[in-house]
Amino acid sequence: PVKVIAVTSGKGGVGKTNVSVNLATALASQGRGVMLLDADLGLANVDVVLGLSPRKNLSHVIDGEASLEEVLVSGPEGMHVVPASSGTQRMAELSHAEHAGLIQSFSELSHDIDYLIVDTAAGISDSVMSFARAAREVLVVVCDEPSSITDAYALVKVLNRDHDVQRFHMVANRVRSPREGEELFSKLSRVTTRFLDLTLDYLAAIPEDDALRKAVQRQRPVVQAFPGSPSGRALTDLARRVDQWP
Ligand code: ADP
Ligand code: MG
Repeated sequence: PVKVIAVTSGKGGVGKTNVSVNLATALASQGRGVMLLDADLGLANVDVVLGLSPRKNLSHVIDGEASLEEVLVSGPEGMHVVPASSGTQRMAELSHAEHAGLIQSFSELSHDIDYLIVDTAAGISDSVMSFARAAREVLVVVCDEPSSITDAYALVKVLNRDHDVQRFHMVANRVRSPREGEELFSKLSRVTTRFLDLTLDYLAAIPEDDALRKAVQRQRPVVQAFPGSPSGRALTDLARRVDQWP
């Protein structure tokens, strides 16, 4: 079966899209079949980060104007990308069953898919809840800003308490030292343990890195453009760990 992994955060702009794109690229280069679904309906930008110019996107599927196959574009390392379009309101209006149905349909589209990576919007909107519920594992990206941890806790709380999501993996992004990542993890896991009786997994710390910014500018994943950079190595390692999950 396809493993569905949702990438979320409480706060916006913390690095979800870059984690999604690089996780997808690294898994694909490790020989896995990967589909990357842009589910950030407010600020869709997987296509921009990857330098793709899709003619059709998810909103055409929802409006019945395109088939699932028609919106797939190929991305780095042979992965399939499902682009979204910014500002689509229709998508946010779908029910949970419809979101889950989309995930299911895309994951069944091709036989060679091992992973479906879902890049979601920030926050606790209904569509984020639906996509995270439909996923098997949820990556929560945080960075060192006070609201990043409190917003991440709010997200984990709602997902866990109201939607019975259990498998959370924290990714610290833009850290200036390994220590900073560990501190972020202990802050978040302390409150989830205490108030939700929930144990988090500490998946990775991605350093603050000019190479990542440069890769964004070149519209390429950093794991491909600068594989030896600190963020490139950390993201490749993150993907290796994900691929070792049972
Ligand atoms: P989100 O999807 O959560 O909104 P993005 O992945 O689009 O966030 O990242 C937003 C911006 O933050 C990127 O375009 C990049 O400039 C910067 N950024 C993210 N992660 C890093 C990092 N590890 N090092 C340096 N800059 C980063
Ligand atoms: Mg994003």
